[in-house]
Amino acid sequence: MKALTYLGPGKIDLIEKPRPKIEKPTDAVVRITKTTICGTDLNILRGNVPAVTPGRILGHEGVGVVEEVGEGVRNFKKGDRVIISCITSCGKCDNCKKGLYAHCEDGGWILGHLIDGTQAEYVRIPHADNSLHHIPEGTDEEALVMLSDILPTGYEIGVLYGQVQPGDTVAIIGAGPVGMGALLTAQFYSPAEIIMVDLDDSRLEASLKFGATKTVNSGDGKAVEKIMEITGGKGVDVAIEAVGIEATFEMCERIIKPGGNIAVVGVHGKPVDFHLEQLWISNITLTTGLVNTNTTPLLLKTVQSKKLQPEKLITHRFKFDQFLEAYDVFGNAAENKAMKVIISNE
Ligand SMILES: [Zn+2]
Ligand SMILES: [Zn+2]
Repeated sequence: MKALTYLGPGKIDLIEKPRPKIEKPTDAVVRITKTTICGTDLNILRGNVPAVTPGRILGHEGVGVVEEVGEGVRNFKKGDRVIISCITSCGKCDNCKKGLYAHCEDGGWILGHLIDGTQAEYVRIPHADNSLHHIPEGTDEEALVMLSDILPTGYEIGVLYGQVQPGDTVAIIGAGPVGMGALLTAQFYSPAEIIMVDLDDSRLEASLKFGATKTVNSGDGKAVEKIMEITGGKGVDVAIEAVGIEATFEMCERIIKPGGNIAVVGVHGKPVDFHLEQLWISNITLTTGLVNTNTTPLLLKTVQSKKLQPEKLITHRFKFDQFLEAYDVFGNAAENKAMKVIISNE
């Protein structure tokens, strides 16, 4: 089969790989019909995730059709259409029993990281019973690709950890796919204002269509002043950091109201200054996290009922043999006005 394979920093290619087989009774093999590229894949490509070794098939998002199941799999059979969760979980260990699937003792984020991923014609999914979700008849499968990672991440780690409440003023720093996932799902709770902050005007413009009430371009270094002006000098109840650099974390520290919540969703590669000398007195809550994907069934229902329309985030579509082109377009997202790309193999 063909698979998008990491060959070392800066190097990927679509190469021939052996088709995965059932290795454990709890495995399933899924034929991928649609997949996508995540910012994390670009981070791996840059060589920033040393646990990913050359030869690894990338990707942790996608939908497909079950091709084969191990004898221990109960919930799925050949021919079932499924969403693949970016988090693999056994459902039985201490952490899984707490709903902390991200820290499953025999799983977590392993797809396209520690084991071969979804950017291939076929993928092996360990602990299939707990790591796959059935696709209801007649649901838009492209939309459901967003349920593998970006929507549960934006929702769980941004909106739920940030405890967005009716009437709140929320700032989302970073209008990439996960920031947009937080924007779409924050609206479940009817905040009064959602202020979107980014450097890219086309992403900010898109965020207004997805429900942002105000936008701030942070390119001039005055985002904090602008947000304080919008909020009448008070700051925001919830600041969702969806970039992963010190400047955006610091922005959250400076705009948060006393009693507010800073929810860090961005992938931070370097230390940041945490201004306890100012914030010790502010009664704030700071949260971090890796997505558990235990909200995927709930989000699936909202997509089915059209309350949530994540297909709006799809800007580009490619065929499987155009995978390298898809990486090129997504890797230069600003100039291509790219948000989520779909790669189809049907
Ligand atoms: Zn991802
Ligand atoms: Zn587990």
